[in-house]
Amino acid sequence: MNIHKIVLPTPYAIGDVNAFLVKGDALTLFDAGPKTKPAYEALARGIHEQGYSMDDIEQVVLTHHHPDHAGWVDAFPKADVLGHRYVDYWMRQSADFLHYRETFYREQLEQENVPQEDIDRILDAREELELFGTRPLTRFLKDGDEVPGHPGLVAYETLGHAQSHFIFVEEHTGEAIGGDLLLEKVSSNPLVEPPVDLKGERPKSLLQYNASLKRLQKMDISKLYTGHGDAVTAIKPLVAERLTRQHDRAMHVLQLMAQHNNVYDLTKALFGKTYVKQPGLTLSETLGQLDYLVAEGYARSEMQNGVEIYMPA
Ligand SMILES: [Zn+2]
Repeated sequence: MNIHKIVLPTPYAIGDVNAFLVKGDALTLFDAGPKTKPAYEALARGIHEQGYSMDDIEQVVLTHHHPDHAGWVDAFPKADVLGHRYVDYWMRQSADFLHYRETFYREQLEQENVPQEDIDRILDAREELELFGTRPLTRFLKDGDEVPGHPGLVAYETLGHAQSHFIFVEEHTGEAIGGDLLLEKVSSNPLVEPPVDLKGERPKSLLQYNASLKRLQKMDISKLYTGHGDAVTAIKPLVAERLTRQHDRAMHVLQLMAQHNNVYDLTKALFGKTYVKQPGLTLSETLGQLDYLVAEGYARSEMQNGVEIYMPA
């Protein structure tokens, strides 16, 4: 793959994010950083250093919709924008979608026993929505689709970290662009997000994520270009390590269940002050471990007065 990494700053705790310029029959940018001025400058510089101008980019392909990856689609008004159909909701941000999103999170957080003032604070994170791009997609990608202009580069749906997540695998070289499926230094958060069809049950993000990791483990990938940090070559052992660590964390949550029985109390016990700084991330992490414990038969849950109560099975 004729690929060049462009490192972009973000205002998020994760630090820098990577975009990738790939030259095939088409000139394609994979991911586009958050919609901040420093990220724009770094993106423009990176593209120029490769001998191109912003206008030369023919298409932008998104690994997922999160704002650190999908913001600057707005900088390429003439390029095609490709990604999962779920990305489109976040780009258009229609009144209907924003209303659905708010209702979804409010109900979810109430079931988690989160206090009302914290729910308002979490839902009020308006800046988050402002760093998204606002260009509707020009084409939706599906599992197994080839990226236009890049023969043999195939999109694989790998949900969990995001409900829109793809990796792109070049079959003949084994090189792949991995988004946030597997990162070199940190584990990916299984964020709670509204379901793709905007109805029905909450997706069980950690269970989806584990299935996606196992899918990755079965592929023959020689080099995975990641959304943050350096590329990963020893994929199978790293996946095994991540899955083992996740199981260990779940066992820790199971122990805490002797004193705490809902997502909010468990999150505070697990994360302490980090909950105050990153309530969305920490609640998602706890809920993921609980979904795992229930799915694996270690725990069960029932609704009591609108709150989901967990107990050892
Ligand atoms: Zn990311």
